Amino acid sequence: MISIRIQNLTKRFGSTVALHGLDLTIRPGELFFLLGPSGCGKTTLLRSIAGFYIPEEGSILFGEDEVTRLEPHKRNTGMMFQSYALWPHMSVAQNVAFGLEERKVPKAEIKTRVGEALESVRMGQYAERKPNQLSGGQQQRVALARALVIRPRCLLLDEPLSNLDAKLRLEMRTEIRRVCKEFNLTTVYVTHDQKEALSISDRMAILESGHILQVGTPREVYRRPTRKTVAHFIGETDFIPGTVKGVEGGHIFVETAIGRFEGLLGDPARMPAVGAEVTVSIRPECWRLGGETRDVNCVAGKIGEAVYLGEVAQYAFVPARGGEALKIYELNPRFVGRSTEKALYASAEVDDVVVLLD
Ligand code: ATP
Repeated sequence: MISIRIQNLTKRFGSTVALHGLDLTIRPGELFFLLGPSGCGKTTLLRSIAGFYIPEEGSILFGEDEVTRLEPHKRNTGMMFQSYALWPHMSVAQNVAFGLEERKVPKAEIKTRVGEALESVRMGQYAERKPNQLSGGQQQRVALARALVIRPRCLLLDEPLSNLDAKLRLEMRTEIRRVCKEFNLTTVYVTHDQKEALSISDRMAILESGHILQVGTPREVYRRPTRKTVAHFIGETDFIPGTVKGVEGGHIFVETAIGRFEGLLGDPARMPAVGAEVTVSIRPECWRLGGETRDVNCVAGKIGEAVYLGEVAQYAFVPARGGEALKIYELNPRFVGRSTEKALYASAEVDDVVVLLD
């Protein structure tokens, strides 16, 4: 198990700065995700770790070894991409053996290691098949076996599941986590799919325009985004602009056009001053609808549009004092919408209210 340390890494393509002096430490054995909007630099960072890009500044260390300028094949990383890139004319076993043959591993050892790698991804019985005789999920398992068989120092995955249908993606993401943990592999995983990242990652980094905005566990990033961009990128949220009226014991009191809110800071390192313009962020599933009013974190209004989705109903809740409709999700909805005759309030707990500075 190794750590991967990125220090002050800058990568440019002509006048485009793809990575701006990034610092990041991925811990030994960690399943670490890189997430962010298109063009934020995820692939550039992954490819720099693999050795396909040489950065202009900074360094990359595998454990104590500096690899910044080392050629890709000397880094001993296992790679898996969106396209499985299996050789169509070779059997499954031959595909997996290829990397070992290139490394001049003795024949008997190749046979054992290929067998073990295929077993570890539960593909032992398909060794003699050709790739076109396998399903997409099975081909991806072979690609994973091929990455594992070389006993890599770390595993680098670039959108490995985006070619699979939704059901297979669910199955394979659990499988990838199982294999990474079984082999104690430090793994860096690039994806667009936030559910993939939330469900199986140990920690994740959210990137934007070549900068790291936040690093944390899925729960930290989802429940305590440090910035609006992160709150907006991971999951859904309602943003309510307001002004800080007070700060007390880590709680922030905010006056907004639709009521007073009390919440916790997204980034506790940056305490706002009284009078500062901030944004209150509340996830749609954190609201509770009811007939009772409260002093804070409570908005009077009525349900506008309602969408019934079985396990959840999604409402556009129109505040009585005007302003943008709030997204509110109600789990296990017994009926959709409510009588608009009675007063209706949406309220949230202090723990679920995040105050963001920018
Ligand atoms: P996506 O999610 O769309 O794959 P990404 O987050 O992986 O995006 P990168 O591919 O790392 O983003 O690109 C980061 C920035 O660097 C973008 O502005 C992109 O246009 C630019 N870039 C990437 N590769 C090259 C290249 N080979 N030549 C020039 N510019 C590049």
